[in-house]
Amino acid sequence: MKALQYKGTNIICDNKDCDYRDIADLSKLKSYINKPCPKCGSNLLTEEDYDIYIGLMNEVNIINNILGDVKVDDDTEIKEVEVRTRKGISFNLKKS
Ligand SMILES: [Zn+2]
Repeated sequence: MKALQYKGTNIICDNKDCDYRDIADLSKLKSYINKPCPKCGSNLLTEEDYDIYIGLMNEVNIINNILGDVKVDDDTEIKEVEVRTRKGISFNLKKS
């Protein structure tokens, strides 16, 4: 398996008083740029954050190409990390 696996992209409104989120089709992600949140009107995705996301995905591909397929057995610990790209990149290790 690849060392870093992509599980999906969510569009999450950054307004802390709003709970809007949507599962984004990666091929249509660009259409969210400067689109207002349907619930509160906040900007759902800035062009800067989109560029950060695309840069991150390119880096994931580079790392996977460098590492190649990694061996996974019963003792392999797999961690799930939520990555947010909003005014930079933040990582949140999910509890298993
Ligand atoms: Zn919102």
